[in-house]
Amino acid sequence: MSTLIRGGTLVTGTGGVIEAGALVLADGRIDAVLDRWDPTLGFDGEVIDATGLLVMPGLINCHTHGVTPGPLFPSAAPALPDEEWLGHLDRHLLAGTTTVLSLCGFATMDHVREADRRHPVHVRGATTHLPSALAAAQRADGGGLSGREAQLSVEKMLDDGAVAVGELGGGQTLGGGGQDLVYLPAAIGRRTGVRISQTEARRLKEAVLGRFLDAATVDVDELTAAADDAGLAGRLTPGELAALVADTVMPSIAPALEGIREGVRAAARLGVPAVVHSASATARVLRELMEDPATAGATVIAGHANHPSHASREALELARLGREHGWLAEVSVFDLLHRRHTVQTREHWDALLAEPDLVQVLGTDYGHGGRHDELIAAVQDITARGHRTLGEAVAMATSAVARAIPGLAPQRGELRAGFAADVVLADARDFREVRDVFVDGERVVHDGALTAGARR
Ligand SMILES: [Zn+2]
Repeated sequence: MSTLIRGGTLVTGTGGVIEAGALVLADGRIDAVLDRWDPTLGFDGEVIDATGLLVMPGLINCHTHGVTPGPLFPSAAPALPDEEWLGHLDRHLLAGTTTVLSLCGFATMDHVREADRRHPVHVRGATTHLPSALAAAQRADGGGLSGREAQLSVEKMLDDGAVAVGELGGGQTLGGGGQDLVYLPAAIGRRTGVRISQTEARRLKEAVLGRFLDAATVDVDELTAAADDAGLAGRLTPGELAALVADTVMPSIAPALEGIREGVRAAARLGVPAVVHSASATARVLRELMEDPATAGATVIAGHANHPSHASREALELARLGREHGWLAEVSVFDLLHRRHTVQTREHWDALLAEPDLVQVLGTDYGHGGRHDELIAAVQDITARGHRTLGEAVAMATSAVARAIPGLAPQRGELRAGFAADVVLADARDFREVRDVFVDGERVVHDGALTAGARR
């Protein structure tokens, strides 16, 4: 089966743009990339008129969660029901993403292969099967663990097809938003009977532990004021409250930070990329690892370098320091462009992207309940704001990702003869309007909807 896509603006994935070019797909591969199609020539196969459309490689998303039937997040929370992770993959595909890297590192490769088999999106896996990362997950949550994880290792997972180490660290294990929302209010409620909010929990936490969770001393005045405002006056002494907060938040933090060290060193030793959780809680250990001789030569990707727990100036400084040490930076769109449920500011995003060559790759991360803004919306935004040209912005979600993580999408991410025919057709004026998507030459999205045979 051959397909000719002609008349569209080809965005090659490596920075190039060909106006009114043509693409020939055959046997699941890109057969030819042409500057133009001679209309007097016949074509034996389907012909698609792409006038007014962009034609680009299927996008490659290097930071996703909730796309397999395995344990969720670095905290190994219970797996999502099938319809939920399949639904996440549907949304990735409908927005032009044809390859995802699952950064729920406690899934097994059987979980990853099941997702890959049941959905047209190419699902690839990463691993955090490390003793300290496992201990952190068990202390923070661990509800999705089967008990067999301790027998697995990064080495075994790589042998079985994992392509990266990660995500190393996460908000749930590192005293981030997951602590403020769920675990800390629960602990205080059990002890006092008072139900506190996420905001109140964060304030108490920061009074006891500081914004970087490494304070040498408790800010007793602030803790007393925060406790009063949260309705806890007279329930606990400042000393009791400080101990309760520390005992709830801290147990998973030390192993989670140690897990980051173990993971980056393993990645250096084994020659695979590591994806680390960049946030205020990890800034210190990331700086330490940049200087660590045992990590020299490793490919380390700072995941969501634009994490909102950093002050934007801190995010910029950490990313610049990473660049000096040869690290790569990924920015996650979260839901900061449109939905704005978990991240309300675009300050960090713009600060990092405004600096040339500071950010190499784009991802989505998870957003609220998996409702992140689409990767293609990130590409559109970066182009519209003038941070990058169209060709460069598409490269950040295609060839640059394939290059950063060599096992993720070999022979994908470019419109190039011989490469896999993963191709997206989108409205040239607003390419969030994805019309058609081909995976391995097969049309799986048509006129913005999944085709009948898309899911297997
Ligand atoms: Zn993260």
